Amino acid sequence: DRLKAGLKKTKDILRTDLRDLFKAGAILDDDVLEEFEGRLIRTDMGVAASDRIVTKLREDHGGRTVDVDAVWDTVRGELRELLKGDGSTNWDLENPLSPLAKADSGPTVILVAGVNGVGKTTSIAKISNLLQKNGNKVVLAAGDTFRAAAVEQLTMWSERLGCDIVRKDSGADPASVAYEGATKAVELNADYLIVDTAGRLQTQKNLMDELDKIRRVLQKVIPEAPHESLLVLDATTGQNGLSQAKSFSAAVECTGLVLAKLDGTARGGVTVAIRQEMGIPVKYIGVGEGIDDLEIFDPDGFVDALFS
Ligand code: GDP
Repeated sequence: DRLKAGLKKTKDILRTDLRDLFKAGAILDDDVLEEFEGRLIRTDMGVAASDRIVTKLREDHGGRTVDVDAVWDTVRGELRELLKGDGSTNWDLENPLSPLAKADSGPTVILVAGVNGVGKTTSIAKISNLLQKNGNKVVLAAGDTFRAAAVEQLTMWSERLGCDIVRKDSGADPASVAYEGATKAVELNADYLIVDTAGRLQTQKNLMDELDKIRRVLQKVIPEAPHESLLVLDATTGQNGLSQAKSFSAAVECTGLVLAKLDGTARGGVTVAIRQEMGIPVKYIGVGEGIDDLEIFDPDGFVDALFS
């Protein structure tokens, strides 16, 4: 499927490159383990996660003749545990909306942030599509007013998806767009309002102030808003994306991550690093440029896709 195809490059590092390492009959000694750790790190899994996997391998299989299946079982098991973490990602996989919070009544407000180019606009379109396909009415608020192109692109998606959009001229106050979006969502009895926000991160204080203001005005219309604050990350940037996420989440509260462009990158291991080093769950992954190329993040599915 799409995830398997998308993770091919990451998979190739782990499996194809490693077949020579874990040959039946070879001894799993420190040299082999060190080389393996290096390759795990090459997938941008991070030192901590890689170290944990290798430590477990050493414990269970170190100094012995390699039993290929048993070794891979250990790697898979550790990866599953690393990805599942505290269990907060045990969504109902049958319900693609289960990772998202839902308002008790009235519109659910989803705030979306992310640095320019990470795939934020596309991810908003994909999430809107998912919501609509499941019978929800969606209103978009084009709050990334700093970039005219972002507003245009979101407008194009809204036309394609057939959902309402609130937009203003470029340079307008993002908070006023958010406010009008909330008003419109209530007026139209919408199920979801998705608020795009500026993708720049000049200083944490700027970003914090801007998002605080957006929250405040949203709450004038919808007191519990935002119900969900998603940060979009670009998987192809690997460990850089991770440090971006750290500074972002230090500045503003996030409730979930969307990991875009997981397809075609060899840095898919960053998913593990993100899970390990951030207190925020990856809720969705982007596996292509198409509108349907969004999947719920499923740790088991992810590990299976890497080792299929
Ligand atoms: P924004 O600047 O963050 O809003 O980024 P865009 O949504 O405009 O996306 C930037 C580029 O990345 C576009 O060419 C998208 O088609 C592409 N893109 C977004 N998400 C994905 C994804 O999951 N997979 C792939 N392969 N491309 C993606």
